[in-house]
Amino acid sequence: MINAADAIRIIVNSVCSLGSVTTALDRSLGMVLAEDIVSEDDVPPFDNAAMDGYAVRTDNIREVPVILSVVEEIAAGFTATRSLQPGEAMSIMTGAKIVQGCDAVVQLEWTESLDDGQVKILRTISAGHNIRRAGTDIAKGVKVFTKGQALRPQEIGVLASLGRRFVEVYRSPSVAILTTGSEVVELHQQLSEGKIRNSNAHVLAALVKKIGAEPRYLGIAKDDRHDLTSKITEGLKEDVLITSGGISVGKYDLVLEVFRELGVDIKFWKINIRPGMPLLFGLYETKPVFGLPGNPVSTMVTFLQFVQPALLRLMGHTSDRQVGIRARLEEEIIKKDGKRHYVRGIVESRDGSLVVHTTGPQVSNILTSLSKANCLIIIPEEREIVRAGEEVEIELL
Ligand code: AMP
Ligand code: MG
Repeated sequence: MINAADAIRIIVNSVCSLGSVTTALDRSLGMVLAEDIVSEDDVPPFDNAAMDGYAVRTDNIREVPVILSVVEEIAAGFTATRSLQPGEAMSIMTGAKIVQGCDAVVQLEWTESLDDGQVKILRTISAGHNIRRAGTDIAKGVKVFTKGQALRPQEIGVLASLGRRFVEVYRSPSVAILTTGSEVVELHQQLSEGKIRNSNAHVLAALVKKIGAEPRYLGIAKDDRHDLTSKITEGLKEDVLITSGGISVGKYDLVLEVFRELGVDIKFWKINIRPGMPLLFGLYETKPVFGLPGNPVSTMVTFLQFVQPALLRLMGHTSDRQVGIRARLEEEIIKKDGKRHYVRGIVESRDGSLVVHTTGPQVSNILTSLSKANCLIIIPEEREIVRAGEEVEIELL
């Protein structure tokens, strides 16, 4: 049985990013740039006022208070009709273009409007005050983003300010999701004797969507060779196939056999972890195939640990792990099985540091325990007792 670290290495080394596509900016959230972005414009494009106030010539306001005549108003989106002359001011709004001759803007709060078309300037300011210069956010010709940059809302904003309606990104994988189990029924079906509702399909689809990949749900396959073969064959047409259930050693756990028959090259089956031990990873041609265990907690935990890194890599992400977070454990955890444990935990901030406790008994069919949890506590293979007060690694959920 292989360890989690080796399993992740095998998975990540088996996949690389899919090809690139041109996509509309507003569909690019969560995707990864497949091109460098060089600015073709200055942002902002012109010098403009940082506050509402009066455009002045600072050599006119060395001695204050001083009275200037207000000769024009410049609203945002408009420009002055002439330049600013000595003894003059123009009323100016935030974002409006600075008029020629003006070298500073006095904010409204430091002025007093007089009713005869004049303004009293109450404070002196230096040149450049309240002026946002062209190109101070992004200068023309600068490389703003490098290929491989993940697009969050703020990157989308930067691309919009550069006028990029379309961007080149790595294609998102289509992810086939197949649930297996003769006991599993869909939500719209009657829950008859011996049957349970299909929660895994919904969890998996949500997990796939959450990172910006595209789930394609294939339904439920019975624990039957024929049904499994036809549905898995369908699933192997997508970029990635994920199955849940039927991967353990029970008499009707047939997924491994069917994968083999269909030509999936099995890279490993069973990992030295808990929960989720019977995880399978293989390749069909170059496509990753994951057989996840059916217990709902195992399904979600193994997806997060092993499937998600693969999907992120296919999407062009270069870093797929969370920044290491450590918290002080508030209770003792004992385990003697030599496995890496992912313990459902609740982390909170107390007196300026992070403390974490478990959600209680860690059985792998209790899905509500994952709902109570806001993190997974990682207990490495070799640890047998972790005492209260020790620091542990956590991953936020
Ligand atoms: P298996 O991995 O097929 O042995 O299933 C392990 C446990 O998970 C069994 O109790 C199954 O009934 C349950 N299970 C399997 N598939 C699902 C599913 N799609 N939704 C909820 N529970 C499931
Ligand atoms: Mg089963």
